[in-house]
Amino acid sequence: MPFFTISKTILRSLFGRPATLMYPAVPREYVEGSRGHIEIAVESCSFCSLCQRKCPTEALSVDRETKIWKIDRLRCIACNFCAEACPKKCLSMATGYSPAVTSPGETEEHHA
Ligand code: SF4
Ligand code: SF4
Repeated sequence: MPFFTISKTILRSLFGRPATLMYPAVPREYVEGSRGHIEIAVESCSFCSLCQRKCPTEALSVDRETKIWKIDRLRCIACNFCAEACPKKCLSMATGYSPAVTSPGETEEHHA
């Protein structure tokens, strides 16, 4: 890399705004219209399992007996297909951060 190109890069890095944020102290603002994560209003859920059957990545699991709705956040690709299919309209795509997942296969549970 020629000397002047390197100097320009160094100066920009020294005096420019950082490209990263001090997350979680400073959360990034989501761009309008961007997809975030699936949320459920579980009190409206009928546990029909339609979302589970429609999910292309098998991220959802619904148990009608125990009235538990689960999502594996690491499998979810935020395609919104489940929300479009839900007859009760209790699924929605929310912007913002979802709770952190610490190990593969970990699920987030919602009880009625
Ligand atoms: S499709 Fe909707 S109502 Fe049916 S189980 Fe899924 S979230 Fe609940
Ligand atoms: S957004 Fe797509 S991948 Fe994620 S749970 Fe819904 S259907 Fe599955």
